[in-house]
Amino acid sequence: MSKRTQPLWSPPSQEKQPVLKLYNSLTRQKEVFTPISGKRVHWYSCGPTVYDASHMGHARSYITFDILRRVLTDYFNYDILYVMNITDIDDKIIKRARQNYLFEKYASEKKDLKIIVADASSVLSNLTKKAKENGDPDKKPMYDKILTRLNESIENLENAIRSGKSKSIEEAQQRFIIESKDPLSDWLDSKLGATVTDNAIFSSLPKYWEDEFHKDMDSLNVLRPNVLTRVSEHIPEILQFIEGIIANGFGYEANGSVYFDVASFDKKDKHHYAKLVPEAYGDFYSLQEGEGDLMTADMRSEKRSPNDFALWKKSKPGEPSWQSPWSLGRPGWHIECSAMASTICGPYLDIHTGGVDLKFPHHDNEIAQSEAHFGNSDWVKYFLHSGHLTISGCKMSKSLKNFVSIQDALSKYTARQLRFAFLLHSWRDTLDYSQNTMECAVQNEKQFNEFFLNVKDVTRGLSQVKTSFDTFSKWSEWELSLNKKYLETKENVHRALCDNIDTKTALDALRDLVGAVNIYLKDRKPPNKVLLYDIGVYITKILSVFGTTYETAKLGFTSSSTTSGDSEQTIMPYLSILADFRDKVRTDARNLKATDILNECDRIRDETLPNVGVRLEDKEDGSSAVKLVDRETLLKEKEAKKKAEQEKLLLKERKKAELAAAQAAKDAQKKIAPSEMFRSETDKYSKFDDKGFPTHDTEGKGISKGQIKKLQKLYQAQEKKYAEYLASQNS
Ligand SMILES: [Zn+2]
Repeated sequence: MSKRTQPLWSPPSQEKQPVLKLYNSLTRQKEVFTPISGKRVHWYSCGPTVYDASHMGHARSYITFDILRRVLTDYFNYDILYVMNITDIDDKIIKRARQNYLFEKYASEKKDLKIIVADASSVLSNLTKKAKENGDPDKKPMYDKILTRLNESIENLENAIRSGKSKSIEEAQQRFIIESKDPLSDWLDSKLGATVTDNAIFSSLPKYWEDEFHKDMDSLNVLRPNVLTRVSEHIPEILQFIEGIIANGFGYEANGSVYFDVASFDKKDKHHYAKLVPEAYGDFYSLQEGEGDLMTADMRSEKRSPNDFALWKKSKPGEPSWQSPWSLGRPGWHIECSAMASTICGPYLDIHTGGVDLKFPHHDNEIAQSEAHFGNSDWVKYFLHSGHLTISGCKMSKSLKNFVSIQDALSKYTARQLRFAFLLHSWRDTLDYSQNTMECAVQNEKQFNEFFLNVKDVTRGLSQVKTSFDTFSKWSEWELSLNKKYLETKENVHRALCDNIDTKTALDALRDLVGAVNIYLKDRKPPNKVLLYDIGVYITKILSVFGTTYETAKLGFTSSSTTSGDSEQTIMPYLSILADFRDKVRTDARNLKATDILNECDRIRDETLPNVGVRLEDKEDGSSAVKLVDRETLLKEKEAKKKAEQEKLLLKERKKAELAAAQAAKDAQKKIAPSEMFRSETDKYSKFDDKGFPTHDTEGKGISKGQIKKLQKLYQAQEKKYAEYLASQNS
């Protein structure tokens, strides 16, 4: 080939890059993630049943899936449609709403004393019966406790009645109502539940708790779903869905209720019942629990097989109901997710998520219903389940009294600290919420925060907008080596996130880089600001992807590049001027030995600036670092410093006192005449010679020669001391 033509070119050969894999419950292994259509991801997540406050068990799945969703969106750039449901029709809600209503009515009504006493004994026998029937040993302590309290409040009431004092009776009556709330509500419900017919009672309770749920999610910095579907708003879609299942031959009506026919579904070649947990086929206990508290024995017997489950339940008096072709009734639990997910996403889902507790029967039934409706056999491609949550190693349960609500947790730790605890654990393993776990999380947050403050301080003069000659300095071995570490970190983080979104390993890699930067900052003067800034921005980006930062408004243009809403950018130039000015004044004051001015320099650092959230740190070279830290943290730091100083002072004083006491004892010893020194030791000696020297021990035996030698030495030493003392007295 002539040298005057362009030679052949070949593209660079690249080593195999990691690809995103997710642990799929449908195969029980990590699978390469491939959405059905390009970057588009249809994701359905099972939401809460809203009848009570959300606890850390809920947080386990909502924070977990928020992290996965953010990583898939902001790191892997998938275009996600995130759909979540709210279960606002459910047996638990119906029962709770009815009980609350009946209890409040009972408590507000004026009642004859005789009736109350009679009711109290009925409540007690109702509860005793329930406690006897209870087969769950975990619940026994709870029953025992309620029974004891109920017994006490009834006894108290009877005593008050015997005393005849109207004030005590009234108090005892109030106490009975408060103390017996749960068993009283339960008894009222069994007696009067069927009379509650106002639908508003059943809708106001879930509305209240849904609001509380959203508040909790906002405080945890969990992103909103793109679509939120409520069961009560999707009755027509659910009816249509059930009709489709019946038409395909997989559902049947019995006494106004409709059931899913597991046997006829499982018979088909392309269908499999209980795909997620095949071992659970025939687990009637779990199935029955999934059917709800209000399912009666009659209803259970109208099923063709105990494996079948309700798609539509005919409502009994005291239960809310909607029109349907079969009865006035309401949807079964599982059908809502199949119908609502399909209404929004069509016949396939790329990702379906939920807590591990929902695998069977809920998720397996959802799959069966949807595949029965659509006639497909791969409704969900990737089924992801978040792991369990334990409290200090124990299962969270009402009977163990270790329920931690989200608000409880947030009163102790910040949302960011809680999130760090999640990030430091694999999303599909059990997470133990304990002091240990949280200390580790708090430590991690602190480490990153200190890193950001240091980098911010060092790169202070580096304006993000204006570039000048001074912006750049030549790279040395230092920078080349730090940059190598930076590139390795990016690769390690990428590999970790590809590997089933392993945030723990990713954080390990980031912390490693922080360590390298700290060493660089300590040894390299002056440091390269551009490189440090880039590393700081990268770590910020990954931690933001994990949801540890709060975003400001995303909609619309920012007003201008120089006047962004970032207060730090606004305040920092002024603080820098103040810090530089103080540095110079302080150096001069030192040279002039001007103590008053130096004290004033300390005061602005220790008193004035912390009060407005500014931490000023004096460095050894006479310059200072300026850091914006929140005021609370600084004041806490100040308190801790003060306390440490006080303790140091106390220790010093204690040592001084000890020394003085030792000296006083020594002085007292000096004043004893040698002839007297052994005479007081009557526990050792019984006879002495005329010089006061011991001759016999307490048992009347003569003192041994060896012993005499030792005592003589002591005697002579005391003679010397005493002579010194006498001399000091005479002079
Ligand atoms: Zn669901």
